[in-house]
Amino acid sequence: MAVPCPADKMQTSPFPYSDTNKRYHTYDYYLKHRYGTKCARIPIDAGFSCPNRLGCSVSNRGTDSGLDRLDGSGCIYCSARGSGDFCADALLPPAEQFARGYETLCKKWGKRLPAIPYFQAFSNTYAPLDTLKRLYNEALSYRDADGNPVPIPAISIATRPDCLPDDVVSYLADLNTRTDVTVELGLQSAKDETLTRIRRGHSFAAFLDGYTRLKNAGIAVCVHIINGLPGENVDDMLFTAKTLAALKPDFLKIHMLHVLKNTPLAGMWEAGEVPLLSLSEYADIVIRQLSILPPETVICRLTGDGAGGELLAPLWTKNKRAVIAAIDRGFCAADGWQGKLY
Ligand code: SF4
Repeated sequence: MAVPCPADKMQTSPFPYSDTNKRYHTYDYYLKHRYGTKCARIPIDAGFSCPNRLGCSVSNRGTDSGLDRLDGSGCIYCSARGSGDFCADALLPPAEQFARGYETLCKKWGKRLPAIPYFQAFSNTYAPLDTLKRLYNEALSYRDADGNPVPIPAISIATRPDCLPDDVVSYLADLNTRTDVTVELGLQSAKDETLTRIRRGHSFAAFLDGYTRLKNAGIAVCVHIINGLPGENVDDMLFTAKTLAALKPDFLKIHMLHVLKNTPLAGMWEAGEVPLLSLSEYADIVIRQLSILPPETVICRLTGDGAGGELLAPLWTKNKRAVIAAIDRGFCAADGWQGKLY
């Protein structure tokens, strides 16, 4: 059992990219130092689809996935809204989704903030280039609910590594000269056996290809990984972190596996085939992963949002504060920090 951290040590951090008690490079710290303030990130469902949900080849719109296409049911954990459960109603135009989301966040924080439109649901580069140009250009001049301009210093675009044909990458590089573009790429695991098991529909090599082409074009990349995937042990999760550490990604999101209703994973979990991590196991693994990652990598998330009514397990993930507190306490007790073993 970890030795409890003295109260005074919990208030400070030896980590260089921190001005609070955090021992890892938080997104808040990054935003404050990059833009001088917190920013409102507004999730958007722009009506995209996903080749892995459609079960189709992406060769006409993307690059080689490296794994055979499956039956079109998508990743085993994918919800009906393609990871866009926190976006506004997809039937609303994206500009209206943005205005509503912005209003909600301004009310929550009691002030107007710069905003980052976040194209989140499904694969947000899986469309003809003209469509992408229209949607992203519109996003740069989104307005609030009263029609007032909103400062938009950056834009985030979530997609699959096999949905990045050269013309799209070139266009994103051009867009990046007008605003800060971050492309979010789901990797989930660096092990091909796991990617096959979770029906990810692409290999690690395909991820690396997409990642490298974005980086060569000067575009910042945020990588997503998931802990607790079926068949993975602690060494596998550390392997994924070690593999990523060598790539030095700009941003990283680490999630616990969520079992959501009406997904293939839900059936596996109900059949007792998917043992889930406890909160303390998850916190311990995250601490070990962060310790071997470069200190410069910005950690956008250490816990995911399982859409309220859809989440079956693990229920401890609903208490995000408790998850973050367990990680903070564990780091402090071990006198560790992100990159200490990098
Ligand atoms: S890549 Fe994303 S949208 Fe597509 S099936 Fe997987 S989780 Fe769902």
